[in-house]
Amino acid sequence: MTKKYIVVTGGVLSGIGKGIISASVARVLKESGIQINALKIDPYLNVDAGTMNPNQHGEVFVTEDGYEADLDLGHYERFLGTNMKRINNMTAGQVYKAVIDKEIEGRYLGGTVQMVPHVTAEIKERILSVEGQVIMIEIGGTVGDIEGEIFLEAVRELAFELGREHFFFIHVTYVPYLKATNEFKTKPSQQSVQLLRKIGIHPDMIAIRSESSITNTDLKKVALFGGVPQEMVFNLPDMSNVYEVPYKLYTLGIHEKIAKALNLSLTGEFHWDYPRSFNPLKIGIVGKYLGTDDAYKSLIESILLCSAEKPEVLDAQNLEEMTDEELGYFISSYDGIIIPGGFGKRGIEGKIRAIKYAREHKIPTLGLCLGMQLMVIEYARHVAGLEGASSTEFDPDTPYPVIDLMEAQKEILHLGGTMRLGAQKTPVFKNTRLYEIYGQEVISERHRHRYEVNYEMFKQLFTLPEEKTAEEKLVISAKADFVEAVELENHPFFIGVQYHPELKSKVGNPHPLFKAFIDTLKKMR
Ligand code: GLN
Repeated sequence: MTKKYIVVTGGVLSGIGKGIISASVARVLKESGIQINALKIDPYLNVDAGTMNPNQHGEVFVTEDGYEADLDLGHYERFLGTNMKRINNMTAGQVYKAVIDKEIEGRYLGGTVQMVPHVTAEIKERILSVEGQVIMIEIGGTVGDIEGEIFLEAVRELAFELGREHFFFIHVTYVPYLKATNEFKTKPSQQSVQLLRKIGIHPDMIAIRSESSITNTDLKKVALFGGVPQEMVFNLPDMSNVYEVPYKLYTLGIHEKIAKALNLSLTGEFHWDYPRSFNPLKIGIVGKYLGTDDAYKSLIESILLCSAEKPEVLDAQNLEEMTDEELGYFISSYDGIIIPGGFGKRGIEGKIRAIKYAREHKIPTLGLCLGMQLMVIEYARHVAGLEGASSTEFDPDTPYPVIDLMEAQKEILHLGGTMRLGAQKTPVFKNTRLYEIYGQEVISERHRHRYEVNYEMFKQLFTLPEEKTAEEKLVISAKADFVEAVELENHPFFIGVQYHPELKSKVGNPHPLFKAFIDTLKKMR
């Protein structure tokens, strides 16, 4: 059977929720019995998102198979409820690199290698290799971007070659509101559709994003000037709860319109279990990437998916300047704190101060990756008395390297794609809080790190659950080749994990560690 393709392009502005709309349409179709898969195309030259700064580009999302992706793959995982893989993302960097490598290998047999047909052929081949009944292709950026043009050309060619009836183009645009004249302006949307048509793509549907509802007259205008029937043009005004988008699309009957156009038969009922209200818990993420909330996207979503209010991102560096009193006052105003992952030295001492206060004053604390490493450092310094204990990542000359580079990392010289990445299994020890939370003896979690607990050298800091003594130590609650999780017993919630549980939360099914953390906060209120 011929595969069908839904191609989503963006107009006017980026950041208007094209990813959420694509993932939501995919979910609605999935609920209608369609076997759907996704392909996010990123026209940037980076080979993957691995080396990208979260301040500029948002978090790096790690897939089960260890691919460092754009955070959009996270939307697909959460909204679609399925795990994405390396194959679900394509970047211009990957495409050009493959073409140049082939050229060097002589595989173009002396031909002049060109954007068209060689680069487009590479793109088309990659699109075709994605399996599924319907493939949702989202093209990053906005129509008119120089770097995106080659991808639009490739899908245009593909639609021509495979048959236009197998393709459905959705253009997502934005209609700004002009305060001075109190009206919505459709001109930029009209122009972006025209731009798309110049490239040879006539959209089948236009989704108009706006601050609030636009009028029917405006919808008609876009339909007429875009050359798209009015029933295929609809408005998606801002929603306070983004998880309502799939439901909204369902009530608009989008799945039926797409099914009719692509000749698909639909079955099944729409099932969408999303958080409808948000408990006013005050959670602080003690972070350092403050450029955009997207830097902690999966973490924030994991909390929202537990029906708790959006956490605040705190500047760890600010904590360094505070007096003890100020810091205590500040941290104790939070119901719980999360120390997230991160790289490099900046803000480290502020995070350690927050952990110390939270440990001593029994404020629920969850440490993720770097956060867990800092919990170990804090414990080594302030409980075990190892003054100056640190990680060789930020203090190569520390007298007590309780966190050190993994053995396998010592030979590696470049930064891209070389960390310990992706899902790995680890046993969880009985008689621990972690075991209680998972109720499972073996778990599989995603990793992204270079450093690890230097267990062999600093065994004395820890205790394994079966050898607990009267003396309080950091309990290791999961360990394979590496220490994967630590916790404290006489504390309402003090758990650090070397992995990234936030990457596994799905709508209707948030990660158990977050559920347990939020439940603790609720009980303590
Ligand atoms: N920088 C630390 C390491 O490489 C932690 C990484 C992270 O938090 N993702 O081990």
